[in-house]
Amino acid sequence: MTIHSLRGFRDILPPDSGVFYAIESAAREVFKLYGYREIRIPTLEARELFVKSTGDTTDIVQKEMYAFTDQGGREIAARPEGTPGVVRAYIENNLSQNGGNGKYFYMGGMFRAERPQAGRYREFEQIGAECIGAHGAFADAESISMLMEMLKKAGLSGCMAEINSLGCATCRAAYRAGLLGFLKTNPAALCEVCRTRMEKNPLRALDCKLDGPRLALEAPAIKLCPSCQLHFSRVQELLSALNAPFKVNKSLVRGLDYYTRTIFEVKTGASGGSQDALAGGGRYDELVKSMGGPDAPAVGWAMGVDRVALLLKGLIPESDAAQVFVVCAGSGSPAVVPIEKSGEEPYWEGRLGKIQQDGGNTPEASSRAFALLGELRAAGIRTDFSDFNLSLKSQLRSADKSGAYLALILGDEEIKNSVYALKFLKEKKDQRNVPAAEIIPAIKAALPVK
Ligand code: ATP
Ligand code: MG
Repeated sequence: MTIHSLRGFRDILPPDSGVFYAIESAAREVFKLYGYREIRIPTLEARELFVKSTGDTTDIVQKEMYAFTDQGGREIAARPEGTPGVVRAYIENNLSQNGGNGKYFYMGGMFRAERPQAGRYREFEQIGAECIGAHGAFADAESISMLMEMLKKAGLSGCMAEINSLGCATCRAAYRAGLLGFLKTNPAALCEVCRTRMEKNPLRALDCKLDGPRLALEAPAIKLCPSCQLHFSRVQELLSALNAPFKVNKSLVRGLDYYTRTIFEVKTGASGGSQDALAGGGRYDELVKSMGGPDAPAVGWAMGVDRVALLLKGLIPESDAAQVFVVCAGSGSPAVVPIEKSGEEPYWEGRLGKIQQDGGNTPEASSRAFALLGELRAAGIRTDFSDFNLSLKSQLRSADKSGAYLALILGDEEIKNSVYALKFLKEKKDQRNVPAAEIIPAIKAALPVK
């Protein structure tokens, strides 16, 4: 009986894993330019953390959280998002004492028990950014434009940020009655869950996966107080100043409890559907204080790496395939001796015979080939090989499959004469001899510039 991965959990294999790596590298580069530093937070936290911050009326906490009681009777949850952990760490480690704005980024797996489908998994990766301690619209605009830069750097063009403002507690209190009135006029239009949480959190209905988009269009829009209005206008001016692509979407709401003022989402230009959000975020001015920390307004976002990777698949050139594949063709090849002699066709295929311990190559040739692997790698050339005990044909077949650009072939003759054969495996497919002493510069000159 074989054991399978859990539903909604998956293996990310090469070359897809290379796309993830490319996104992460682009993110790290951009974070550095913006003064964000990495924070690594635990995967498991007290369940209470998410109930109190993400919010107990949210889908994430109500329906999607992987929570369990451990052997010590503690209530634990696998993080469904990163912000609560970062805020906990900020408070627990007194990071406000460091002065200035706390600018942190994180990368890692998040867990939500949702119905799995393309672009929606139960374990997925987020790259997130939090800027804690800044009131001004500068922080919002910097955060959003950094996100757009990052997507561009990762190779996605044409992304657009949609922004809206949810106002502060004062705007929200005034809005609540009007929205609740609207929802109550037509309770049949609400799903079961929204009906039960309507009183406690009417805004939630507008972000419902079922009826949210329709309700959000019909519902009265929030009226911002003068100071929230000013903040929102300023965010837009600053985004324009940075040429960040954005548009205001008055019906945008976000599924978490802690947002105040600016919220935003980045969508793909393509499709529609419910998996088209690549990233989402917003301001959370009350969260740090409400979790027992200092009065630190903040803004942040999280990007769904799996969804970005889906869009980039095939667009990013593979950067981790070997460049050079070393093949050893010493005397005495083929390296495979037959188990039983069968007439005219004695050897070749590995599966037909047993592999001789020392191969058909002389130990000198294969030791030289093996040492050469190290020399090429030390020179920064991505180098691979299969097994110097195998036949020349079999080694060359592996070289072709590896995606390498060049095969470097050496055998007893070559070693005696101090030349190696360099074979082009891609377009040209020709072969030439290079003096051993010049092999590294010759390879570097032969490889295509990236
Ligand atoms: P959605 O509306 O698609 O459910 P969300 O509002 O729940 O997204 P956020 O909590 O804002 O998502 O997370 C930020 C980003 O993380 C999303 O824009 C998305 O790209 C990604 N994401 C969220 N849930 C999943 C998931 N189950 N699988 C893959 N990526 C996800
Ligand atoms: Mg969701």
